[in-house]
Amino acid sequence: MHKTQEEIEKIREGGKIHTRILQQTAKLAKPGISTWELNAFAEAEILKAGGRPSFKGYGPKGHQFPAGLCTSLNSVVVHGVPSKNQVLKEGDILGLDIGMEYKGLYTDTAITVAVGNITKEAQRLLELTKKALSIGIEQARIGNKVGDISAAVQKVADDNHLGIIRDLVGHGVGHAVHEDPQVPNYGKKGAGPELKEGLVIAIEPMFTLGTDDIFIEDDGWTVTTRDQSLAAHFEHTVAITKNGPEILT
Ligand code: MG
Repeated sequence: MHKTQEEIEKIREGGKIHTRILQQTAKLAKPGISTWELNAFAEAEILKAGGRPSFKGYGPKGHQFPAGLCTSLNSVVVHGVPSKNQVLKEGDILGLDIGMEYKGLYTDTAITVAVGNITKEAQRLLELTKKALSIGIEQARIGNKVGDISAAVQKVADDNHLGIIRDLVGHGVGHAVHEDPQVPNYGKKGAGPELKEGLVIAIEPMFTLGTDDIFIEDDGWTVTTRDQSLAAHFEHTVAITKNGPEILT
């Protein structure tokens, strides 16, 4: 599961393109645009750059994700499916999650954006989930354990009385969309697998303003909070290096 210097170099190159595309897609997330249009833009940019949208067609035959971009609106935590009928409006929060394959290697990154003006509570959720990602990344160091990342992320949620999604976790990434180890957003310091040089992981806190209880909607993908509370998701692909954590997206 560990990557060579050459592989990390390719992931770094793909990650730069990937990040640019996510940011451009985020800028388009304004009232009046549909999530289908956002997906069309992101997919086209990925193909133009010589990449492949790795979420598109992900999953077993007969149940494959239909888009390159996950668009998770308000109480949707992750894996929202873009739709022409889903038009953004002022006050929404929207999770944008893209997987990309580039030169045979994979990166994964997500943000949650405000559509126009949002409530103070929603703003607080976005800021704290983003902060948890940074604090988690700080622990992605040689010799630390996966649990050091998990515990750091969990502390931000616990200190601020936010719900932590437990049924979905971060993961290794690089040779495939999802690899070992799992990187939960809760856990104990010093527990779990050791972080070694060349490991590449996607760290992805998912917090809510309510509880951790979720369900999957009838489309078989969309993961929504049971209590309909708002949810946020931020994600980076990170390499464990001799010089500390390197954010590749
Ligand atoms: Mg991921």
